[in-house]
Amino acid sequence: MKEFLISQSAEQLTQWCENEGFPKFRARQLLQWIREKLLIEPEKMLNLPETLRQKVKEHFFAPSMSVAEVASSADGVSKLLLELHDGEHIEMAIIPAGDGRVTFCLSTQVGCPVGCRFCASGKNGLKRNLLTGEILEEFLLGCQYLGKRCDNIVFMGIGEGLLNCNELFPALEMLTAPEGFALAPRRITVSTSGYVPGMLKFAGLQKEYNLAVSLHAPDEETRSKIIPDTLRFPIQEILSAVDNYREKAGRMVTLEYTLLAGINDSDAQAEALGRLAYAHHAKVNLIPYNSTGTTFRRPSRERIESFERAARATGAVVTRRIERGSGKNAACGQLRIKAEEKLS
Ligand code: SAH
Ligand code: SF4
Repeated sequence: MKEFLISQSAEQLTQWCENEGFPKFRARQLLQWIREKLLIEPEKMLNLPETLRQKVKEHFFAPSMSVAEVASSADGVSKLLLELHDGEHIEMAIIPAGDGRVTFCLSTQVGCPVGCRFCASGKNGLKRNLLTGEILEEFLLGCQYLGKRCDNIVFMGIGEGLLNCNELFPALEMLTAPEGFALAPRRITVSTSGYVPGMLKFAGLQKEYNLAVSLHAPDEETRSKIIPDTLRFPIQEILSAVDNYREKAGRMVTLEYTLLAGINDSDAQAEALGRLAYAHHAKVNLIPYNSTGTTFRRPSRERIESFERAARATGAVVTRRIERGSGKNAACGQLRIKAEEKLS
């Protein structure tokens, strides 16, 4: 398979240029196009000789994917459905905040093996991992669509990123390297369903990336109704890994909690959640369920508010995900499932 132009290091590109008979400074020019001008299509790199542009196109994916569909909602969120080189699809979302900052929500896998029962991404299992170059191209296509770099990145799209550390971690490195895309690690959040081995590896990086853990329940019994057994870790092990992350990375962890009516939305569960969060110095982020055509329901506004109050009364820091992209297909993974259904 071809290599990805976007994931080449300066050394690799210099070596490649030399091997192909081009002077070293051409590698520097290529890198400028990619990392400063956010372009990877060789045909747009006008200060390069035609022969080099041709060679780049033959040798590398530049890019490997294309935008198959754009879905925009009234609140300003745009979702890009991306078609990969092998015909698979993923999604990325561009989420503007009121203050002019923009957050990208990126995918890490095609599908997801965890299979949380409310989530569209895990509906048909895992197709394959995304490669480092593909994760970086998602970011780049988002920047091209937006016309500038984003301010924050959350890995909360399709997939369980910490089951794909080998490809995700080099992408994080390239996104944050000063000679790469130069984003501050504090502006990047990786969300996990609580895959403990991956959480420990992530802590081992000892970088100030943010970690979000999708807890969804304060007790094992409730959690087992939401997340299937295969890749579900015990809550106690997850919370130890949360402590470990805070100590190693020096960042407060966020506990995500998707609110499902009648399943995990009682005041007693809110208090139990608040106590856990407080004890482990973690923040709570409440996410009201976006319907994905499952039997789950979003709790009423009153119930959500009551839950929030009860959790907060424990002293824990509680926020609620701003409801954005809550129109049709708002939940991540839905555009992709629709595209798959259309194809089959
Ligand atoms: N696999 C990782 C990251 C992707 S999911 C994880 O599970 O954390 C990112 C977040 O979106 C998770 O907290 C997940 O619970 C939430 N989510 C997924 N589908 C949702 C839906 N339909 N409604 C509300 N939240 C959803
Ligand atoms: Fe996978 Fe996260 Fe969806 Fe669960 S919520 S199926 S872990 S993407």
